[in-house]
Amino acid sequence: MNVLWVLAHPEGRSLNSALHRDGVAALTEAGHHVEVSDLYAMKWNPVVDRDDFESVTDERLHVAKASSDAVDTGTLSPDIRAEQAKLDRADLVVLQFPLWWFGPPAILKGWIDRVFVRGYAYGLPDPDRPGRFRTYGDGGLAGKRALAVVTIGGREQGYEPRGLAGSLEEVLFPLLHGTFFYTGMQPLPPLAVYSADRTSEERYQELAGRLRTRLAEAETTPPIPYRTQHGGDYDENLVLRPDIAPGETGLGTTRVTLDQ
Ligand code: FAD
Repeated sequence: MNVLWVLAHPEGRSLNSALHRDGVAALTEAGHHVEVSDLYAMKWNPVVDRDDFESVTDERLHVAKASSDAVDTGTLSPDIRAEQAKLDRADLVVLQFPLWWFGPPAILKGWIDRVFVRGYAYGLPDPDRPGRFRTYGDGGLAGKRALAVVTIGGREQGYEPRGLAGSLEEVLFPLLHGTFFYTGMQPLPPLAVYSADRTSEERYQELAGRLRTRLAEAETTPPIPYRTQHGGDYDENLVLRPDIAPGETGLGTTRVTLDQ
């Protein structure tokens, strides 16, 4: 398979960078083709502005419209087009980062902002539903699998469903559901390294082994079973039908549960 591995860490001697090198080596040894976007090493510009759009000069900037116009005319900034070309080739997309303030570092958020633009990753008309768009389970990145590899300072129990931080899947909801699933990718359960700041050499070997196993299984791991927009569970206002998960509210309702 073709893999795009996006790394967001400013230090080449970090835990993240070590895991990244081991992960890429494991995939390559297994015969997969890996492309890497090491965002800090690339000095990736994470800020959307009018320079992204060749055709926008003095007029008011409407980001989404400028994006889809630039996709149509092939005039998006070359650094964005290069990342989209890598994505186009990928069967599996790995986003690796340390959890910073409950989300990815700004450089990775900005990679998503600038690369997953309207007309490319989302905002594509649905040929089966006039006036509707392909989202939540379908979109410009449909057919790809997506794996978040996340190191976390906090301990594992704090990210369990009744933990103080909230369950990891809910902490990462903007990425797993609002980005991967929204654009059509199949989000795999994230690989989390908890208590990351307390990593000994011995523990590192165990973590690298876990990473290798998850990568070896990435083609067959069942994705998180989010409910698709057009699968029949939501009404025309995008609200769950009353007979689905009756009485339940919150982010957990976006997932199919075993008894349904
Ligand atoms: P590093 O600092 O590089 O390393 C961590 C440990 O691993 C060190 O002990 C190091 O010696 C060891 N190590 C590194 N490489 C190896 C190797 N090759 N072999 C063996 N050992 C090695 N945490 C939360 O839980 N929630 C948050 O919201 C959150 N927000 C944060 C915000 C900011 C701005 C920052 C700076 C930290 C935050 N943290 C948070 C903590 C953060 O998630 C962790 O510090 C981070 O995940 C650790 O990953 P790292 O790659 O930076 O580790």
